[in-house]
Amino acid sequence: MDNSIEKTVEELALTESSKPAAAGQDTIAGHMRRIIELLGEDPNREGLRRTPERFEKAMRFLTAGYTQDPEKLLNGAMFKVCYDNMVVVKDIEMYSLCEHHLLPFFGKVHVAYIPNKRVVGLSKIPRLVNMFARRLQIQERLTRQIAQAIQEKLQPQGVAVVIEARHLCMVMRGVEKQNSQAVTSEVLGVFRDCAQTREEFLSFLRSNGATKL
Ligand SMILES: [Zn+2]
Repeated sequence: MDNSIEKTVEELALTESSKPAAAGQDTIAGHMRRIIELLGEDPNREGLRRTPERFEKAMRFLTAGYTQDPEKLLNGAMFKVCYDNMVVVKDIEMYSLCEHHLLPFFGKVHVAYIPNKRVVGLSKIPRLVNMFARRLQIQERLTRQIAQAIQEKLQPQGVAVVIEARHLCMVMRGVEKQNSQAVTSEVLGVFRDCAQTREEFLSFLRSNGATKL
């Protein structure tokens, strides 16, 4: 956990001095208070009294990716190298919100690219994943955005992104079996054009037990 995340988590705790939102107040907390009422609950009972504010803080944290941009995130972290073998960052933990139900989907992201004289600091890849994950998303778009950002900023010979995720909107409603995962992938450049390169990446994931692919 890096410092910025720790700090934001701390901010999720409310100070006792902050006032509860009034129902109908045009804030996220105010609307959530009304939603709690509409669900038939009493927003004034002890357990729920501060829930609207907690919800607002949590939602702002979980959608903080809207205020970040890949340009700033990757600038200053790119280095010239003569390395041109595949770089793989696998098992990146990912937590996002599905835009259809506002329920979490979460899982693992695997990223590979083949540099074209430039690489990016390895820690930037998980941060890029977080940036796009902390938005209202569908898994397919999240996959594409991560791949395209790397392609645009780094201009590698190719990039591949695979995401394996479970969607609470599916498993909690019993739409799918509890353990089913959705797998999405986006391949650009040599990963798209060359089956052998693509297979090298996939077999690497398989051999490391990172995936059920
Ligand atoms: Zn959903």
